[in-house]
Amino acid sequence: MNYDLAAFDVDGTLIEGPDGMTVWEVLNLRFTGTPDHNKERYALYKAGKLSYAEWVELDVTGWRDAGATRDELVEAFAPLRMRDGVREALESLRDAGMRLVVISGTLDLMLNTVFPDHPFEDLYTNHIGFDESGRIDHWRATPFDMAGKAEALRALALRERIPLERCVFVGDSSNDVWIARAAGFSIAIDPRCPELESTVDAVVRSNDLRDILPHLGLT
Ligand SMILES: [Mg+2]
Repeated sequence: MNYDLAAFDVDGTLIEGPDGMTVWEVLNLRFTGTPDHNKERYALYKAGKLSYAEWVELDVTGWRDAGATRDELVEAFAPLRMRDGVREALESLRDAGMRLVVISGTLDLMLNTVFPDHPFEDLYTNHIGFDESGRIDHWRATPFDMAGKAEALRALALRERIPLERCVFVGDSSNDVWIARAAGFSIAIDPRCPELESTVDAVVRSNDLRDILPHLGLT
């Protein structure tokens, strides 16, 4: 095996929303009536008019102000589904001796709800917390989305004494371009971003995560 660690994106890679929606779009649709905030806020973020942390705060406070509880958030995750073959593919990688981690702009509650038995040793995601009555109480924007994804991979590789050349990354979207460049081998699965497609070492068009395995020397 040429690789020791595999890092995964979540939304669009391991877990799919209806019409390609991320967890943010699913929750904005459920609690504010429209998924369109995401495109507007992404445009402001790209223009330097909104920080990532401010963007997270706008979304989370939107749900909070709509009265969303933990139970309602969990119910709202119902349309989110795991991609076919996720458990089997991850098991194959782990059996081959790889460390498995998530480096994602997703929400920890969603990953832990939709994939409670996940095998990841480290989770770099956004965090949301609740008070005793289940109302949204606090949140923590991850510093490890966008360019920060690459920083998280570099830090992990350093901590685990694994050369970056022996690290794999699998993602699908524009926030994955930096980490795809940093990883020794990168795969785009059903990519939604031409820039990512032209950055990665392999493009896999499939609804089944097991189709990444041949690219890593596994079957
Ligand atoms: Mg994604």
